[in-house]
Amino acid sequence: MSYCVNCGVELEPAEQKCPLCGTPVVNPNHPCDPHAWSAYPRRVQEAAPSLLSRKTTAAVISAALVLPAGICLVCNYLITGAVTWSIYILLALAVVWVASVPPLLIHRGTLFWAIGLDVAAVGGFLYVINRLTYPMTRTNWFDTLALPLLLLGAATVLFVSAAFRYRQPGKLYGCIVCVMTIGVLLLGVELITNAYLGKALSPHWSLPILILCAILALFLIVIGRKIKLRNHIKKRLHM
Ligand SMILES: [Zn+2]
Repeated sequence: MSYCVNCGVELEPAEQKCPLCGTPVVNPNHPCDPHAWSAYPRRVQEAAPSLLSRKTTAAVISAALVLPAGICLVCNYLITGAVTWSIYILLALAVVWVASVPPLLIHRGTLFWAIGLDVAAVGGFLYVINRLTYPMTRTNWFDTLALPLLLLGAATVLFVSAAFRYRQPGKLYGCIVCVMTIGVLLLGVELITNAYLGKALSPHWSLPILILCAILALFLIVIGRKIKLRNHIKKRLHM
């Protein structure tokens, strides 16, 4: 066993120089054995640069979406003499583009912008479909059903991501957030669908689920407290 003459750090038999200060190791009693096991890597590896930059990926995705859109548009026009069914495909491809390309190009506040753009794109998509099918169905499901559900989903995603971002989640904390989110989300879904169907607003099937979720969350909180208390006592007693 050798020690660095400069900084005193303990040296592995394979070290030819001190890993801390770089001083060469000279110990006639314990000559350096380069084949001995070393705690440090023998050479530094650099991460390979990513093959596709974000801009290139965005361009590739855009091209991959424009191609089927163009083919559908041309086929639709040649077959029927007008743009009819292809408009649905074009809108769906536009939603895919909005969901995939802007997040690649926006660097700051990506999550917020991505969710906002997704809501706008999906909302616009559903709105146009509702408008196009209105003459046949005579129902306005966008304002009263699709939009509230979409906003509820976006709010849920924002809440969960904020909850995980602004506090380092332990496994228990993550479980509590998810369980309570599911309960509240289902309650919201039932209230919105009840309002759309013209039923009474009082929750029916989602209330027992919410109560179960709350009991489960309380149970997890108690377990978390007990673990904290046990660790605290162990520290106090130097166990
Ligand atoms: Zn040293």
